[in-house]
Amino acid sequence: MAITFEEIKEKEKTYLMRTYARKPVLFVRGFGSRLWDDTGKEYIDFVSGLGACVTGHVHGEVLAAIARQSAQLIQVSNWYFTIPQVLLAETLIKNSFADRVFFCNSGAEANEGAMKLARKYMREKGEAERYEIITALRSFHGRTLATLTATGAPEKAEPYKPLPEGFKHVPFNDIRALREAVGSRTCAIMLEPIQGESGVYVAEKKYLQEVRKICDREGILFILDEVQTGMGRTGFLFAYEGYGIEPDIMTIAKGLASGLPIGAFLAREEVAKAFGPGDHGTTFGGGPVPCAAALATLDVLFQENLVENVATVGQYFKERLGELKERKSGVVEVRGMGFMLALELKEERAEELVLRLLERGLVVNNIGGKILRFLPPLSISKREIDTLMDNLMELI
Ligand SMILES: *Cc1c(COP(=O)(O)O)cnc(C)c1O
Repeated sequence: MAITFEEIKEKEKTYLMRTYARKPVLFVRGFGSRLWDDTGKEYIDFVSGLGACVTGHVHGEVLAAIARQSAQLIQVSNWYFTIPQVLLAETLIKNSFADRVFFCNSGAEANEGAMKLARKYMREKGEAERYEIITALRSFHGRTLATLTATGAPEKAEPYKPLPEGFKHVPFNDIRALREAVGSRTCAIMLEPIQGESGVYVAEKKYLQEVRKICDREGILFILDEVQTGMGRTGFLFAYEGYGIEPDIMTIAKGLASGLPIGAFLAREEVAKAFGPGDHGTTFGGGPVPCAAALATLDVLFQENLVENVATVGQYFKERLGELKERKSGVVEVRGMGFMLALELKEERAEELVLRLLERGLVVNNIGGKILRFLPPLSISKREIDTLMDNLMELI
């Protein structure tokens, strides 16, 4: 190694803004569900780049698609047609409820665009007074001013006042509170099927079905933020499939291009037609390389039956976490679905456990002091899960 970890740590401390409390490890290589650090030590990855590397690290087919496209054309802007963007749009539309899609670069941008589309739709209908977007407490929708305001943690938005207007928060999974919050100014209800960033809280089936009914009855839009739950993460290509409902607008991002930055919002034609030329746009969004990577990602998901793998192995994973809860009084709750799982601890030990697991070659995420979160690549095996469970059994 030309540069040491100590030097990197020092430079990071000197040159980067202080926004991240990074774990003490320097990853230099990945393959499948494995990562390697600068010393050559191997890790099993239960974070997958914050749920992004759904096909595993550096999947051969994804790598080939990126290499092929990068050698041919990297960027021309959306003033021109490009092949990967249009083919990706077709694939997503043919595999979802939606009729049209817009590509951007991240989850926050996808939610920002979805909210703009919802407000424009109401305006086109002659109901410009409907601009309010209702979201859930404990939700996470992004870091831009509008998506941070939408996020259900008002104290996090506080330092950035003044904030955009027209947002209201209600407790999650509480249909009465939602019903009471809907009024003549309501434009849309935006929810995550599973609240990921705040600790993996799963929406009840009845709740989302009731939300759908309220939206239909009141003539307002249902936006599902599937930035984390989409792309197979829950054992369905999109989580809404498991709820027996369809949203009006859906946002996706994290897993879409196996780790390359991309985001998208999708809508039914009736809603999508509110946007005409010039109403929304982006320089990089839907660029040839991320779109080629996303096409390859979807191809791998289908060819390798990865979504089915999540459904069956995810069930196994959850059962094993359930066993741990039975055996250990330090575990309070097991939550989640598919490969989006969490373990809530009785005591503030999550941070310490994550460091202990890292020493043992296991990459796990903690949310605050009490929650361990697991977001492995969709190809992770039962044996790898068993290795994690053996270690959790010893450490908890
Ligand atoms: C990660 C996440 C976002 C934000 O995505 P970025 O790409 O970080 O902007 C939005 N919504 C949900 C549900 C997420 O998990």
